Amino acid sequence: MKFTQLRLVGFKSFVDPAELRIDPGLTGIIGPNGCGKSNLLEALRWVMGATSAKSLRGGGMEDVIFAGTDNRPARDKAEVTLLVDNSDKTAPARFNDADTLEVVRRIVRGKGSDYRINGEEVRAKDVQLLFADLGTGANSPALVRQGQINELIAAKPENRRRVLEEAAGVAGLRARRREAQLRLNAAEANLDRLQEVVDDLE
Ligand code: ATP
Repeated sequence: MKFTQLRLVGFKSFVDPAELRIDPGLTGIIGPNGCGKSNLLEALRWVMGATSAKSLRGGGMEDVIFAGTDNRPARDKAEVTLLVDNSDKTAPARFNDADTLEVVRRIVRGKGSDYRINGEEVRAKDVQLLFADLGTGANSPALVRQGQINELIAAKPENRRRVLEEAAGVAGLRARRREAQLRLNAAEANLDRLQEVVDDLE
């Protein structure tokens, strides 16, 4: 499974529609300071379900929307699309029929963001788990932000452990365990309630 294309519109400095083709092998992005190289990496992290505004160098999640310049007005929405080649059929069963996965995240001012995979509306968690299962994701150690190495050195042990778990590909399992635990707790609460009803009837 490979990323093949990133499309942006209204995302940070990419006010006009832009496409980045990701061919096999190495892809280099070059350009003068401030031209948007890091914004591309942030778009990748964002479409994979990043939820921390700080990791996207913003104060709030809406800061990813083009904020306007002296000669162009601000936009009220941003959209990033990531095309993933699934011809090796390694996607989770739910999406595995398609040869290409088109993952789209869109944010509208005041309305929050939503996600689609091949046109079907999905939860943030579905997108995060899809990429976690593929051994990547918004927090993947393969995506290194400026200053992140220093942060890692100074990080608390549990935060450092999280980075290692992402690298070992078990982050998806941890998220699923948390979800299963919540469902288990709800089922236990229902059982208790049921027992009370049975006790009342006896
Ligand atoms: P460097 O080589 O210095 O690291 P870079 O090529 O990585 O730079 P970025 O940091 O990706 O550049 O882009 C910074 C530019 O993006 C700045 O000009 C900043 O004003 C612009 N920018 C960031 N967020 C927004 C936004 N929400 N709306 C408009 N422009 C934005």
